[in-house]
Parts: sequence; structure tokens; C-alpha cells
Amino acid sequence: NVPTSFLREIFSVIQDPSIISFAGGLPNPDFFPIDAFIDASKKVLTEQGKKALQYTGSEGYLPLRQYICDQYKKKENIYVTPDEILITNGSQQALDLLGKVLINKGDTIVLENPTYLAAIQSLSLHGAEFKGFTLEYDGPNISEIKQIFQDTIPKMLYAIPNFQNPTGITWSNKKRAIVAKLIKNTDTLFIEDDPYGEIRWSGKREKTMATILKNTVLLGSFSKTVAPGLRIGWLYTPNKKLYEQLYIAKQAADLHTGTFNQYILAEYLAHSTNDQHIHTIAQAYGKQKDTMIRAIQTYLPNDITYTNPDGGMFLWLTFPKNINTKKLFEIAIQEKVAFVPGCAFYVNTQNAPKNTARLNFSNASHTHIIKGIQRLAKAYIQYKKYISK
Ligand code: PMP
Repeated sequence: NVPTSFLREIFSVIQDPSIISFAGGLPNPDFFPIDAFIDASKKVLTEQGKKALQYTGSEGYLPLRQYICDQYKKKENIYVTPDEILITNGSQQALDLLGKVLINKGDTIVLENPTYLAAIQSLSLHGAEFKGFTLEYDGPNISEIKQIFQDTIPKMLYAIPNFQNPTGITWSNKKRAIVAKLIKNTDTLFIEDDPYGEIRWSGKREKTMATILKNTVLLGSFSKTVAPGLRIGWLYTPNKKLYEQLYIAKQAADLHTGTFNQYILAEYLAHSTNDQHIHTIAQAYGKQKDTMIRAIQTYLPNDITYTNPDGGMFLWLTFPKNINTKKLFEIAIQEKVAFVPGCAFYVNTQNAPKNTARLNFSNASHTHIIKGIQRLAKAYIQYKKYISK
């Protein structure tokens, strides 16, 4: 039942270097802390080589888990202990483990429509039934969520409340509180996926669901704040029984996340100013986003609306209702620009709106962003000619 990923399908097309791609979800590699990692690897191998190259515990390297707890205390005012943190192979593995541990055939999973494609993929493996709710500019459509909870008792609600992939939308504190109240006394688990929350260039941080709701699992990742090639993420849950089950599932999956990577990352974090580094990334992405918005305003007609996020890596275009972005994509490729048609991010792609698109701005230079939007505008004119024939 697992849907294929549109992105993987078009991967070979967008490899063409003459194509400007807004399709991927890649961080900007110019910010990878390569020199600091050279120093950290050397130090780890010299001083702790025998431990760093050995098998280790499934829960993950203690200094790394401690660092994550310290950050939660400093940034979110959440008191977390290292035995509530499980290091995973990217937050993608946390999704896989949650599916394995919690989902039985026929269970209901509630999620944002649209949402992160690989979460749909991962959670589909276990025969869940998905119920989506519409995402508005400030978060969920509350009456749709309420209706879902009246009809069924979902096993979990999966959401990306900060700078969502694919839309860039952030849930308001008001809507977070309403959803927390709705879930509070139920058996539903709120899975809060937060790989982008720290990549913020403006506005104020909203409340993490874990601070207002007990039955949560919070997922984090170093993929966007340090480097995705490390494949280091984590999950936090205050629920001891669930932690134990996830821990066993992690053991069964891969014994543990690579010791060497964990040691190097912990060494890097202990001797660098990673908060400054995250600030630098966020400011740069904010400028890239500004360039993209200005180009959209300048070159695309104003019947196309767009989200304007305070953080993250994506924005979302909505074209007039009669536009099919899958067809537009084909013409855009001829014009040498790529994006992801929005219907790829819906649970039920057949019924999904056809007129949306996800654009990534973190991985293209300012010049390419402007050129790419100009090409998209050209493709749009051609597409309109084609449908008016
Ligand atoms: N969740 C979301 C919402 C994502 O966008 C991504 C990566 N694009 C992931 C999870 C997985 O990230 P990773 O496994 O690299 O931590």
C-alpha cells in the first residue's frame, strides 16, 4: 500500500545541471561545518578511537542525549532527562519505529493535508487508515479535526507544527491549545515532528506541543541544523512504557545509530557555537526566501497566492483552480525549472487539489532563484496557451 515518492521518481530528471531545481528538500551545503568536523573527527579518533569505533547502546551516546536535554531546557523550558531521549537514524527512523510499535491494520492516523510525503510512506507500511484535515494559514481547520475525533478514536495525530513541509505553515498558539485540549483525555498520541523549528529568521517561537500536552512524542533532527548526511535525529517521550517499546524496536532495527557519527557530532557540539551557526543558516535562508517572494511578486501574475514563512525551507504556491501543476511541471521541465506538484503531498492524491506547488528556496543561489522563477513564469504562460486551445 505504500505510495511511491514523486520526488524520487523525478530525481533523474532534476539531476540535469541545466535545470534550476526548487524540487528537493536539501539544506544549503555551503553551511556544512566541514572544518569543524575535520577537527572533531581527528580529536575523536586520537582520544577516543577505541570507543568511537565500537558497538554502543541502542539509546544513543549519553553526551549527545544530554546536549539535547540542555537545549530543550534553554530554548523551550522543557525539563527532559537523557533516559527520555532515544537517538535515531534521522527523524525518519523515529517515524518508522512509531509505525512498527503503535500501528495495527485498520488504525486511524490523523494528519495534515498536505503533509510530509515520507511520513505517509513510512506509516502506510502497517495498514493504517489516514484521515486528513485541511491546513489553513495558521494551522488546522479545527472543525474538521473535531469531526474526526467525534467519528473515531485515532491512534495518533501526526503533524509538523513549525514551518511545515511542504507548505511552510506554522500553527498558531491558539490552535495548538485547542488541539491539545481535544486530545488531552484521549488515548490518541500527538506526534510532533519538528526538524525546522530552529531555522527561524523572524517572528516568535510558538509553544511546543510537548509543553501543553502529556501524550506526545516529539521528534528532532540534526539534519537541518548541522548536516543530514550524519543521519542523526531523536525522539523524546515522557511515556516510559512507550519509550521502552521504541527502544526495543530500535534494537531490532539496527542495534544503534553509528557510534562514530554520534561521537563526532557530540565533540563538534561541545566545542562549537552551534546556536550561532543555526542563526547564520536561518538568516541566509530568510534572505533566499525574500528573494523568491520578490521574484514571485515581480514575474508571476497575481492570481497565484503564496505562503510567506518565518522559517524553514519551503513555500507553497496556489494557482487558480483550473490549473493542473502536474501538467505545468512537464512544461516547466522543458523550460529548465523544477518544483514539486502539491498533489504529491496528499494522502489521497486522486482527490487532492491539483493547483498547488511546493518550492524549496534553501538550496538555490539568489541568481538562480530569480532565474528559476522567471522560467516558471514563462512555463505558466505557455501552459495557459495550451489549456486555452
Ligand atoms: N520530517 C520532516 C517533516 C522532514 O521534512 C524530514 C526531511 N526532509 C524528515 C522528517 C526526515 O529528516 P531526517 O531523517 O533527515 O532527520
